[in-house]
Amino acid sequence: MPTRADRQLSAIKLGQDCAVLGARVRTIHHITGLNPRDVQRLFFNDPQAIPRGRPPNSLEWYHGANLIARAEASIFIAIYHRLRNTGFSAGESMISAYRGYQAICQGPHRISFDRAFDLASHTDGIWLTPTPVFDILSCPVCSSRFMTAIGTLAPASDECPFCKLIQRYDTDPRLQASFPRHAA
Ligand SMILES: [Zn+2]
Repeated sequence: MPTRADRQLSAIKLGQDCAVLGARVRTIHHITGLNPRDVQRLFFNDPQAIPRGRPPNSLEWYHGANLIARAEASIFIAIYHRLRNTGFSAGESMISAYRGYQAICQGPHRISFDRAFDLASHTDGIWLTPTPVFDILSCPVCSSRFMTAIGTLAPASDECPFCKLIQRYDTDPRLQASFPRHAA
């Protein structure tokens, strides 16, 4: 049985990993269970440097997001879910999936750690909400896994950001810069 000290230490280690990836206080609080005052004291030496402002809200965001952002969100969430299904905790999956996403996608990254946290919460039904609003589908055409709002009625391939990306790739320099040919 892990002792209280073990649990506290792993929460602090997890919080540290989140802070390095740019998480705000609220995000670290949800992921680690540490209270917000402790999060601030432990990980933010400079109170001026604490990220402020409205946290991301992904439901509105996803529908207005451009193709690259939707593809990047899907890449993150597909890795996150694979890890969750392999038995990793939600917190560990967040950290590893975010690092994996950063390794796969060329910067500048459109998905901040706080955004990724919000997407994972709303897909998994944890942390911010018990009710998932996003689902992960497999595209029948390109077999990529991608994120979609639950209850979407359009055929899956119409919604797939990767099919659109492949169609536009040769004529869109922005896509070529974000997804170099070997990765695409
Ligand atoms: Zn597709």
